[in-house]
Amino acid sequence: MRESIESAEAGLYAGPAYRLLREDSEYPVLLVCEHASRFIPPALNDLGLDETASREHIAWDIGALVLAERLSETLGATLLSANYSRLLIDLNRPLHVPDSIPPQSEIYQIPGNQSLNAATREYRQQCLFHPFHDRLRALIDARLADNRPVRVVGIHSFTPVFYGQPRALEAGVLFGEARGYAQRIVDGLARHSLRVAGNQPYKINPLSDMTVPVHGDGRGLDSVLIEVRNDLLRTPEAVRTWSAYLAPLL
Ligand SMILES: [Zn+2]
Repeated sequence: MRESIESAEAGLYAGPAYRLLREDSEYPVLLVCEHASRFIPPALNDLGLDETASREHIAWDIGALVLAERLSETLGATLLSANYSRLLIDLNRPLHVPDSIPPQSEIYQIPGNQSLNAATREYRQQCLFHPFHDRLRALIDARLADNRPVRVVGIHSFTPVFYGQPRALEAGVLFGEARGYAQRIVDGLARHSLRVAGNQPYKINPLSDMTVPVHGDGRGLDSVLIEVRNDLLRTPEAVRTWSAYLAPLL
């Protein structure tokens, strides 16, 4: 008799876990967009989420990918972006934290994540998490092997209303060790009269964040995570404006 050890999701993640733009760029900044996509394989029925509007902003960072693409184009910088929704597995969380595969997001329960067996959890890790982070590690390795400088910059967006509270903040620069680099970016954005702050609206937690502490701080590299309020990224023109603010500062 065969043991049922296979993942119920076998074969669902046949498409690549990530997309890589300008792989061979010489520019020191490596752009990373972990929450770029809201794609969930149709067979998973949106993980049981029903409200389209809520699903849309919890499934991805609205506007983050287009901003990251624009920055990549402007700087000629490499961009690594995810092809699957963070609701399947959050690429900016280490595997051991409870919201790696989130059972809920804000106030929304995520039924499709709540009774996963170990095989399915591991399958998502193998198909989605490891390819992304292995690739990021290899990109950094290749640059360091050539004695080239590397700065690791995550591009994210946040919602204008969180748990019912409007947010006045327009952008945040999240950092752990790279205080000087982060401060230069904060100061540069503030010169455009933007409402910007360091380590808001979130803080980097070295134990429960991934990209900044592991690929940046953990390797002695300058690394920040940029957060832009997503209502400010709704038109191509707005995205171009934010890219123009950020590009000279990274
Ligand atoms: Zn994000």
